[in-house]
Amino acid sequence: MSKTKKVGLSVQQFLLRLRARNPYEPEFVQSVQEVVESLDDFIDSHPKYAGLLERMAEPERTIIFRVPWINDNNEIVINRGYRVQMNSAIGPYKGGLRFHPSVNLSILKFLAFEQTFKNSLTGLPMGGGKGGSDFDPKGKSDYEIMRFCQSFMTELHGHIGMNTDVPAGDIGVGGREIGFLFGQYKRLAKEFTGVLTGKHPGWGGSHIRPEATGYGLVYFVQHMLATRNKAIKGKRVLISGSGNVAQFACEKIIEHGGKVLTMSDSNGFVYDKNGIDIEKLEFIKILKNQKRGRIAEYADRYHCEYFENAKPWNVACHIALPCATQNELEFEDAVALVENGCYCVGEGANMPSRNAASDYFVEKKILYAPGKAANAGGVAVSGLEMTQNNMRTVWTHEKVDRELQGTMHRIHNTCVKYGKEGEFINYVKGSNIGGFIKVADAMLDQGAV
Ligand code: NDP
Repeated sequence: MSKTKKVGLSVQQFLLRLRARNPYEPEFVQSVQEVVESLDDFIDSHPKYAGLLERMAEPERTIIFRVPWINDNNEIVINRGYRVQMNSAIGPYKGGLRFHPSVNLSILKFLAFEQTFKNSLTGLPMGGGKGGSDFDPKGKSDYEIMRFCQSFMTELHGHIGMNTDVPAGDIGVGGREIGFLFGQYKRLAKEFTGVLTGKHPGWGGSHIRPEATGYGLVYFVQHMLATRNKAIKGKRVLISGSGNVAQFACEKIIEHGGKVLTMSDSNGFVYDKNGIDIEKLEFIKILKNQKRGRIAEYADRYHCEYFENAKPWNVACHIALPCATQNELEFEDAVALVENGCYCVGEGANMPSRNAASDYFVEKKILYAPGKAANAGGVAVSGLEMTQNNMRTVWTHEKVDRELQGTMHRIHNTCVKYGKEGEFINYVKGSNIGGFIKVADAMLDQGAV
C-alpha cells in the first residue's frame, strides 16, 4: 500500500490516472511506473516537486505522419512516422530514431520519457525526445532505404532543427540511414547544420560516436565493479544483441580481458565457450553491418552452439549486458542469472528488464545499472557532436574518449550520491532521482509551460 501524500497524488492514484490517460501504452506505463515508485519517498520529503511527474509524463508535443515511399517493384508503400517531443526544460529535444516493425506510440513515449532522465544525467543541456517508424529495414535494398529516409525526412524536417530537436540513430538507424536523412534535410532546409547526430566524421560527425554507447556501458560497469573491488579481467560476460551497442560493448570487454560468451539477434543466440575474440568480433561486424546477415552464421563459421528463438540468460556468467531491446529480460531470466552466479547487470538497451526483473536484481542487491544511467554514453557523445558542430571543429578520438570516460564517471557518482542505501548502491533510485532534479528545477523555474 502506498502512502497518501499531503501534496500531490499517491503512487496508486497517479498510476490509475496514467493508465486511464494512456490505455493502450503498456511500455510507456511501465517506464513511468518504475520512476514514480522509486521517486515516491524523495518527492514526499521534497514537496516542491509534487505534481511535476504528472507534467513530465505528458509529452510536450507528438507528431504522427504518413510516410509514402516507392519500393523496387514500383509499388507505393505506406508506413507511419513519429516524433515524440517529450521535454525541453533543459535543452532542445534530443533522442534517436528507431526503424523497426514493432514501433508504436507506446514504445516511443517510453523511450522519450527515459531519454529525458538520461540526458539530464549526462550534465549536458539536452531535452528528451524519440521518434521513428514501423518501417522494417531488413531485406530492403539501399535504394529502398534511401527513398524511405527521404520521404520520412520530407515530413519531419519542419519539426526539427539544431536549436529545436536533434534526432540520432537507434535500432535500425545507423550511419547509412543518418546519411540519407541528413542529405534530405540539407536539401529541404538549404543549410548544413548539426540537425542530426551520428553523422560520419568526414562530414560533421564526432569520433567515438558509433562506439560511445557500448564503450560507455563498459566504463560504467568498471565503476560498479570497483565498488566491490572487482574488475572485468577474467569474468564471463553475456551480451545480447549484435548491433551497434552490443558490438562495441563486446570490443571494450575484450580489451579489458573479459570473456564474451554470447551474442544474439531476433532469431536466436550463439554460445561460444572459447569466447568471442577481436577477430571473431570483426566477423560479426562485417556480417551485421555490411552483409546484414543473421548471427546463426557465426555458429556455422566458428563451430559453436546456436540456440534458435532463445535468449542467453541461462548461461552461467558473472556479468550480463542486455544490448538488444526492451523487455528482453523476464523475471525468470533474472532469477536464472542470479542463481547461476551473475552479480553485475549493465543495461546497454533501453528498459531491457521487466520491472519484476529489475526489482529482483535490487532485492538481491547485485550490481544493477538501468539503461538510463549505463547507456547514456551514446547521447553524451551526441551532445559533444552538437558542440563540435556549433564550434565548427573536430575533436580527436582521444579527447572524445576522455570526455566520455569523465561523463560515465560523473553519472556513476550521481547514482552513488542519490542511491546509496547503507553499503548497497541502488542505481535505479540513484539514476531516477539524479536525472529528475535538474529537469524538475528547470520546469519550476520556467512556470506552467
Ligand atoms: P541495432 O539496430 O544496431 O541492433 C539491435 C540489435 O538488437 C540487433 O542485434 C537486433 O537483432 C536485436 N533486436 C532488435 N529487436 C529485437 C527484438 N525484438 N528481439 C530480439 N532482438 C532484437 O540497435 P542498437 O544497437 O543501436 O540498439 C540496441 C539497444 O540499445 C536499443 O534498446 C536502443 O534503444 C539502445 N540504445 C542505443 C543507443 C545507440 O547509440 N545506438 C544509445 C542508447 C541506447 P536483429 O538484427 O535480428 O533485428
